This record gives sequence, C-alpha cells and structure tokens, in this order.
Amino acid sequence: MERVNLIGMDKPALKAALAEAGVPARQLSMRVGQLWNWLHVHGARDFAAMTNLARDFRGLLEENFTLARPEIVTAQVSQDGTRKWLLKTGPGIEFETVYIPEEDRGTLCVSSQVGCTLTCKFCHTGTQKLVRNLTPGEILGQVMIAKDALEDWPSTVPDRKVTNIVMMGMGEPLYNFDNVKAALAIAMDGDAIALSKRRVTLSTAGVVPMIPRAGAEIGSSLAISLHAVRDDLRDVIVPINKKYPIAELLDACRNYPGASNARRITFEYVMLKDVNDSIADAKELVRLVKGIPAKINLIPFNAWPGAPYQCSDWSQIEKFAEVVNRAGYASPVRTPRGRDIMAPAASSRAKASRNARQPEWRARCQTSSRPSYRGCRTDAPSAPSPSPHRSALRDRR
Ligand code: SAH
Repeated sequence: MERVNLIGMDKPALKAALAEAGVPARQLSMRVGQLWNWLHVHGARDFAAMTNLARDFRGLLEENFTLARPEIVTAQVSQDGTRKWLLKTGPGIEFETVYIPEEDRGTLCVSSQVGCTLTCKFCHTGTQKLVRNLTPGEILGQVMIAKDALEDWPSTVPDRKVTNIVMMGMGEPLYNFDNVKAALAIAMDGDAIALSKRRVTLSTAGVVPMIPRAGAEIGSSLAISLHAVRDDLRDVIVPINKKYPIAELLDACRNYPGASNARRITFEYVMLKDVNDSIADAKELVRLVKGIPAKINLIPFNAWPGAPYQCSDWSQIEKFAEVVNRAGYASPVRTPRGRDIMAPAASSRAKASRNARQPEWRARCQTSSRPSYRGCRTDAPSAPSPSPHRSALRDRR
C-alpha cells in the first residue's frame, strides 16, 4: 500500500488519515495535536525524530505515512544570500521558490501553479500553458524546503529566517484558491508555522470575484499587479483586465477586509519603456488609488529573450517615482537580488523549460522592497547593467 504524505493536510484530514490507519477514536485529537506540532513547529522530517511519541504509534506512522517534501532538483545560493530552489514532484511538475534575506526580514517567494493561464504580455510564464495547480502539500512544501535548508526550525524562535511569504512565484494564486488557502492557513496558524497575516501576501493579476473571498477566507495581505492605469493598455498587457476592468478591480480593493493604513494594499507596477511610464501615467496612478490605503511598488521590468518590452530608462523611473512620492506614497523601486544565481542552470533533462522560466524569476523574486535609487538593471540591451556582484555588495553596506 502506498504511504500517504501528511504535508499540507489540514487537521480534519490528518484526523481522518489517522483514523483510517487504525488510531483509536479517543486518541485522535491528541495525536493530531502532537503531529501538528512536530510537522509545522519542529519541521520533523521523519517519524523517528518524534521522540515523545510511543514507539508503537511511531511504527504505525512509519508504516502508513510520509513527511515527503518536493524533490530538490537544484539549490543555489547567491553571493548576496538569495537562494533559489528548483523543486519537482512528478514528471513535468517543476516549480521554483526563492528566498530573499534582508536586514529586517526574510521573504520567501512561493509558486501556486506550474505554468499560468493569464498570458500577461511582459511575464514569461504568460508564454507557458498551465500544467496544473500545485497541491497544498506542494505549496507548503516550498516553505518546508526553505526552512529545512535555512535551519529555520522550530517555527517559534524569535529570530526566524523566513519571516514573510509572498505568493509571487509562478501562477495565479486566486485561480488555485482552495489549495493556496489550505497551505497559507498552515503558514499562518499560530500553532503551526505561525507567520502573521500581515507577513503573508497574496498577489493577484486581478481575479476580482475572488478578492472578497481571499479577504474573508485567507485574510492575508493583498498585492495587485496593476501595471497600467488605462483599460485599453491593461487589456493588452494584463489580459484578464478584459474580464475585470480597472474600476472593478479597484472597487474590490476598496472593500478588501482588513485594509487600513497599518495594512495597506500593495500595487505592483512594472516599468515598461514608453508603454506605461509617462508622467501622465504616474499622475493617473495616484488618482486611481486615491482613498485606498496603498503602497506602490515600482518594479524595473526584467526583460527575457523575445520579450516585447524594454525596461524604462532610469531617469524616467525616477521622474515617475517622484510623482508618486509627492502624492504621499513611499514608492520603493525594487532592487535586483541574487542575480548571479538567476542565470540558467547548467544541465538537466528539463533544461529547456527551466531556462525558459528564469527571466521572470529574475523579475519577481530576486527583488527586495528596499528603496533603491540605482539604475534599472536588466538584461535588456538598452539598460545600463552594473555587475550584479557589485550591487549585492553595495546592498550590504
Ligand atoms: N499571478 C500573480 C502572481 C505572479 S506574478 C500576479 O499577477 O500578481 C508576481 C509579480 O511579478 C507580478 O506583479 C507580476 O506582474 C510580476 N512580473 C512578472 N514578470 C515580470 C517581469 N518580466 N518583470 C517585472 N515584473 C514581472
């Protein structure tokens, strides 16, 4: 009989699994509590480590269950401490996770799907078909892998390494609502991984009907991939806009439960040269988000081979940021991180597809939210491109 993986199960599922394996009914609640703690507070990787459990119970667990993480295909560490894992859970089921350490936090950028259905024009995943939704175990597994590698167990210690999670990897989390919800519930459970809701951010391209549900049922912080201030342009670069136009999206943000000045909604805005980066765009951006407790993140576009856009010139980003700043929004331009490990991996069967996935990871998950007043560094021919190592060094000072 195939052993069942317990990673990603919620408590009722765990209880049912234990009952099925023959744990007596009167012990179930206690056993679930013990396992919950071992799995998510201590990050136990085998049942033998669960030393406070009776030997025969450990035997039963061993016989019926696993604590399997995704397989690590590659694990890379940048000179600046950024880490990237390529993970695999089956044929063609490969996904990446990136860890970005900063002085005051450590952010894990997590994938929700393999591929994507959204076809955003500037995003490389947009050129790939959806393979499938990741399961709760695969989503949470990304967190487990990172915590294992960083020796970030138990989850209760005060100086944790993974302090934040952003659902900004591959895929649209609101198109995999149930699984993302299940995984984040464990990440935010005070008796499990115990990250606060403020430190978990769900990023969406704008699946408007799911936003109220995300607020009510997941309760994490919210980020919106806005990227354009007019529907005619957003229809092109973020095509889901044709279904849910800007006004509807912003209404959903206005009504997002829990949004407040202490807990702002993040608007992500990728800077595309001569496309969305005019001063008029900046003014319109400020006008649009008026009344919404908002943060604005300007993201230098990271070009990929064949991308139809270039990153805005730095001087233009500065002017744009100036308008946003003057309107009272701190608008950090995100700093590239881990550039030395974002280069395509050396060799593997899945090389072609993996290489194809690299560029957008450069974009999303290598950026930190620290304000930067340095140039827009991308691989686009037009952009000035100082050495990544130098920029990493400068970051440390
Ligand atoms: N589907 C979700 C989450 C994945 S994208 C969403 O759209 O929000 C995470 C962030 O990375 C989004 O803001 C997305 O617009 C941005 N992104 C994707 N490709 C990029 C690129 N090449 N350059 C800059 N940002 C990019």
